Amino acid sequence: MSKGNIGVTTENIFPVIKKFLYSDHDIFLREIVSNACDATQKLKTLAQRGEMKEDMGDITVHVSLNKDAGTLTVSDRGIGMTEEEIDKYINQIAFSSANDFLDKYKEDANAIIGHFGLGFYSAFMVSKKVEIITKSWTEGSKAVKWSCDGSPEYTIEDADKQDRGTDIVMYIDDECKEFLEENKVQELLTKYCHFLPVSIAFGKKKDWKDGKQVETDEDNVINNTTPLWTKKPADLKDEDYKQFYRELYPMSNEPLFWIHLNVDYPFNLTGVLYFPKVNNQIELQKNKIQLYCNQVFVTDSVEGIVPDFLTLLHGVIDSPDIPLNVSRSYLQSDSNVKKISTYITKKVSDRLQSIFKQDRKQFEEKWDDIKIFIHYGMLSQQDYYDKAKAYALLKDTEGKYFTYDEYRDLIKGEQTDKDGNVIYLYAQNREAQYTYIKAAQDKGYNVLLMDGELDAAMLGLLEEKQEKARFVRVDSDTINRLINKGNDKEEKADDDAVINEIFQTQMPKLDKTEFHVESQAMGADAAPVIITQSEYMRRMKEMSRFQPGMSFYGEMPTMMNIVLNTDHPLIKRVIADGDAATAEALKPINQELKGLDARRQVIEQDQKDKKWDEISQESKDNLDQTRKDIDAEKAKKTAVIAEYAKTNDTVHQLIDLALLQNGMLQGEALCNFIKRSVDMIK
Ligand code: ADP
Repeated sequence: MSKGNIGVTTENIFPVIKKFLYSDHDIFLREIVSNACDATQKLKTLAQRGEMKEDMGDITVHVSLNKDAGTLTVSDRGIGMTEEEIDKYINQIAFSSANDFLDKYKEDANAIIGHFGLGFYSAFMVSKKVEIITKSWTEGSKAVKWSCDGSPEYTIEDADKQDRGTDIVMYIDDECKEFLEENKVQELLTKYCHFLPVSIAFGKKKDWKDGKQVETDEDNVINNTTPLWTKKPADLKDEDYKQFYRELYPMSNEPLFWIHLNVDYPFNLTGVLYFPKVNNQIELQKNKIQLYCNQVFVTDSVEGIVPDFLTLLHGVIDSPDIPLNVSRSYLQSDSNVKKISTYITKKVSDRLQSIFKQDRKQFEEKWDDIKIFIHYGMLSQQDYYDKAKAYALLKDTEGKYFTYDEYRDLIKGEQTDKDGNVIYLYAQNREAQYTYIKAAQDKGYNVLLMDGELDAAMLGLLEEKQEKARFVRVDSDTINRLINKGNDKEEKADDDAVINEIFQTQMPKLDKTEFHVESQAMGADAAPVIITQSEYMRRMKEMSRFQPGMSFYGEMPTMMNIVLNTDHPLIKRVIADGDAATAEALKPINQELKGLDARRQVIEQDQKDKKWDEISQESKDNLDQTRKDIDAEKAKKTAVIAEYAKTNDTVHQLIDLALLQNGMLQGEALCNFIKRSVDMIK
């Protein structure tokens, strides 16, 4: 037996491993098992080249637990090591400027391990002692046993091992007993070793016998050595892709589309990406793209490698060319990674484009499910917008799909305003906005359905990108004014009209909502009362929910316009009745108002061309008083009208119907409405 010191140039390696790699304990098993695979594959290569003559036999890597001894062992039948090789590959861990590097990357175990080739030493994260018992494949080699208890000192001695290959025996630390649990080991193997290229067996397969689980003779192989992405697309069927998807994400819906990635120049990358069919936001986050390096699982956080919007896809990417030994921020500036990201975007886009071209029907059927990915991409990446605009779709309220160009062609005839803007009408809820949609359709307009999570942002983007395009929600104005073609003359009646006041005084008091009543001649067929909400204000309020800087809009009350249709017989009747009922009481008030108004005009005329200090105090006071008198008189007028309006059930019924149509009639108000309606038909 001989002794020696592990050749670390700076500090002792072990505290470093234990301290800095603490958070990522789990990866030790991946490192040890993948070393075993590497050794096995090297042997395969030698056999293929004819350098190794004898039969390789069973080359399965075995992972085994011995609870009594407190050991976890990984055994392979690979190339093994001679004593010299142990000295060269295991004992001499030479590295420089270790402290600087460790300081920089202490959060990232992958970086440290990659940088130093510390794979094997990660066993010390969880072990108080590690033994290597190994015998080289070369003829006449002696088996040796290397042993180290976590101090820089190791021992090496002859061993009794007949078979070629290596056993790594880890004596698990008392604080790390979980790694002696079968379930834990199984979990780690499934996570990290699921697709390693050499068979890995963990114990024996189990069977149910007489209500008990018993071991069979068959190895419990935990991996799939030839995962789908390593095969040629031409050899694969749809069902193979679906099957592989189930293997990756057992509980998920069937995927919508997939994209097989395969490049070897200027970088090496294979993989399969899936467009998932997700039911909700939470599901979207749960399953992630997995990143592999030569079939060894590395991570499922691919931010920085895959463009942001594609991190929502599922699947695997395998590339030895993604530098894993660097920090995330460095990764994003790496030229290979940039190329990879561009390549993936292009592949995804090409695939969507080709499905769109070859099978538009299928594309349309799946559009509602995939649009969130496409919209996210278009919103977050200019170059993707330019690609996707050829196949991104718009859907109308009748369920028909159009490309951007097709849709513009469809509507530009009927829906261009007097300034040459093409007006895209849209609804956010087909049921709630049904009346408005119907009115627009009756006028020969088409209405889009924009009910997706990102649609509000998308229409903003489309207004920006498409020339002279404006999006207007169907209920943002009365039908005649929705698209201003310049030929309808403004028929806005007097704001102070009695009819407006009749309704204004009877509007309910709702929290954070203000109503503004106006009259308009909309034709005898249109509804008597319509509620509209200005596009601009509504959008600002909606946006304020997502953008903190816009909270000003969020706090403003919601402004609703109540438009009375003066062509409608019911409104005509209210006008006539209201005028008749209030005429006498209003007469003296109107006369007084007329007088006051004339006086105000005279004073204003007199003050018009004078500077503030040239106007006498008397004149200023006079004007103030006149204005106050006018307000007082107007208040009287309003009181008279309110007194009458209170008694007019038609008015209340019309208001409630309009509110009801907009989902705004609730609670007590709804109850009163129903009661009043019942009384009316009784
Ligand atoms: P890396 O695998 O990155 O080279 P490691 O520290 O994991 O770094 O391993 C160092 C070297 O030890 C390997 O390159 C290999 O030559 C040798 N080695 C490790 N495990 C085995 C094994 N199971 N069989 C044969 N050689 C091994």
